[in-house]
Formats: sequence, structure tokens, C-alpha cells
Amino acid sequence: MTFSQLGLHSDLLKAIADQNYQSPTPIQQQAIPVLLTGKDVLAAAQTGTGKTAAFTLPLIQKLHTEKLPCKGGRCKVLILTPTRELAAQVANNVETYSKYTRLKSVVAFGGVGINPQMIKLKRGCDFLIATPGRLLDLYQQNAVRFDDIQTFVLDEADRMLDMGFIHDIKRIIKLLPNKRQNLLFSATFSDPIRKLAANIVHEPVEISVAAKNTTSSSVNHSVVHVLKGNKSKLLAELINIEKWQQVLVFSRTKHGANRIAKQLNARDISAAAIHGNKSQGARTKALAEFKSGKVRVLVATDIAARGIDIKQLPQVVNFDLPNVAEDYVHRIGRTGRAGETGQAISFVTEEDIDLVAGIQNLIKQVIEVKHIKGFSLSSPLKTPDLKAVKAKRPKKPKNRRSTANHR
Ligand code: AMP
Repeated sequence: MTFSQLGLHSDLLKAIADQNYQSPTPIQQQAIPVLLTGKDVLAAAQTGTGKTAAFTLPLIQKLHTEKLPCKGGRCKVLILTPTRELAAQVANNVETYSKYTRLKSVVAFGGVGINPQMIKLKRGCDFLIATPGRLLDLYQQNAVRFDDIQTFVLDEADRMLDMGFIHDIKRIIKLLPNKRQNLLFSATFSDPIRKLAANIVHEPVEISVAAKNTTSSSVNHSVVHVLKGNKSKLLAELINIEKWQQVLVFSRTKHGANRIAKQLNARDISAAAIHGNKSQGARTKALAEFKSGKVRVLVATDIAARGIDIKQLPQVVNFDLPNVAEDYVHRIGRTGRAGETGQAISFVTEEDIDLVAGIQNLIKQVIEVKHIKGFSLSSPLKTPDLKAVKAKRPKKPKNRRSTANHR
């Protein structure tokens, strides 16, 4: 399958060729023809599957061929994203794929001045990519009207709900014209997401590219048992021994992220932290330095890491395991993207064994345990068996895990 077989315009094919994409990814193959017909879509796709191009390419094509002028203070496609980084990333993709067209896009998120966004919106745009809070601010200040919206995209809907945006989203939907195309993307489809979707999409075509809560086969992931106090030393040793040049490290807390970055810098490994307490300027700078290779390690919290899109990110480290098993899938989805192989290592202490059990049950896999020289524990932790595997064995006592876990 090629991009031209999907019926895309030559101006878009040129932009795609500039990106050296050889062929459309599975979500692109499925979504592009459906979106071109104007139908609503409900798609289960994680970051890294090429989902952004899957919805931006057909929307660009429609507006490019319609060639209708933009009216001041209005936009034709509204894309809502949960984080600033993701908004910037999606806007970047729109710019990239529409570079041979005359379409205009505006990106709007909080944490930076609202005035430049108001000025840009005054001229009108084809694409408005925004986070919910800032969009509502702009609306309340009469900087934008929604009468001309043809398509509404809700990206990473699961994360939107996790971040408490449900009321903002409901308020925004009420302001949109009734007749419009709706697209909803989510990595997972829980009951709350289905409930939200029922209010947004109408008779949608459902597309799913990866089974719910599965990890990509191009990620080689493992756990390392370590004493809590040795985590920093282990991280520095791994970076040096394995000669990792670009590592994304996850910390459970903002304070922890700062501390990890500080400790790495003290060991002469260049590191920066990004999290919600950092200004937008500091986050953008850290991300740019990480992308350019000036900073070798980026330490992030889950929310800040959302939407970080770096091609061929080779290494992810879970310095702390996430409290929510689904976040493990999101985190390691940062590596091994679009055909590349990636590696993810999680540091596991005795307190984390139940979290490991939850993750393994979610992804239906036993995660490999790696032993690092100099860091072995006097009595190694036993990673729990899969519940599913146990359930298949007849007549075993139900609660064997608790004895195995706390050795
Ligand atoms: P996304 O899932 O939208 O976050 O995209 C993940 C990465 O895949 C981005 O870096 C895209 O530039 C890249 N990508 C998107 N489509 C393709 C494709 N057809 N072939 C290769 N890379 C792609």
C-alpha cells in the first residue's frame, strides 16, 4: 500500500515524501479513506502508531481542495489535546504536511501569553490546535467563534479524562455547530471514554490498530531489581556502561524528577527535568536540547512526557514505576516507534511488586528480569506470575502470590 493509493493529493504526497515515509502505517491505511468520506471515527490508537498523520492528512486534503477563505476569528478544524506539548506536536505535524498548501494553522495553549494567540486568531485559520482551558479563555474573550467548524478532533481522550478536562470538554462541545464531523482518538477504551464518546461521535466507524493495552512488539522491556537508595547510582552506571545517548527517564513526582536530573548532572551526565511546575519556556528549552543531543537525559513526569514525539527514541527508563498500570503502556510506547526497536527498563524495589503484577496482568506478559552486575540484591525479588496463567492451572490456592512476593 502506498500513500498515493489512499487517494491523497500530490501536494500532500510531496510533503510526505519529504518526511521519507515509505508507506502508510496501519492506522493511516484504515483511517484516511474513512475520514475523506466525512464520516465520524472512533479510533483506538496509541502515540507512535502514526495517528496524527492519520487524521491530519485527510483533513488537510479536504480544506486544500475546498479552497475556501478563512473568516476572521473563526477556524474550520478544531483539534483538542490534553497537553501543551502535544498541541505543539500536532501543530507541527499540520505545518509539515500542509507545507505545499496555503492553509493556516494556529496553536493555542496556556502557560504563555494569550495576546499573540488572539492576534493570530483574529485573522482566522483553517486549523486551531488547542488545550481545553486556553481555548475557553480565548472564547470568553471573544477571540474565537466556532460557527465555521466542520471537524472536531478529540486527541488522547483517555488522558483528557485523567487530567480532569471532562467539564471543559463538555462546555466546548456545547458551543460547536451541530452539523460537524467528529473524531475521537484514545489509547484505551474504558467505560468513561465510551460514555464521553457517545456524546461526541455519531454512528462512528470504529478503528483499532493495537489490541487494547498491549505493548508494541518493537519494544524490548525488562525490570531490574534494585534497592531504593541505589536507583540513582544504577541509572548513572547504565547510562555510562550501555553508552545511552538519549534517555527518557520517568519519575513519579515533580520533586523526584528535579532530584534525579540534579544527581545525574552531579555525575557529569547532562540531564534536564520537565514537569508541570516548570514554565512553558523551560519545558520547550529542555525538550529542544534533548532533541538536539545537547542534553542526554530528559527526566519527566507522566503528564509532562505526554506528547513528546522524538523519532527513534531508543531508551526509556522507569526510575519509578507508574501507579496506574495503563501508564506503563503509555510510557514504554515512547520508544520503539514507527518501525524502530526500542528498549525500556524499569527499576523495581520490594514495594513495587504489586505494581509489577498489575502491569503484567494488563499487558498479559511476564516481563523479563535483568540482573546488573554490582546491583544484585541479597535475596532477589520474585516477579509475580500472571494471574491469567495461574487461573489456567486447576486446583491451585488462589493467593499464592502474596507469599512469593514478600520474600
Ligand atoms: P504519532 O503516532 O502521530 O505520534 O506518530 C509517531 C511518529 O511516527 C512521528 O514521529 C511521525 O513523524 C512518524 N510517522 C507517521 N507516519 C509515518 C509513516 N507512514 N512512516 C514512518 N513514520 C511515520
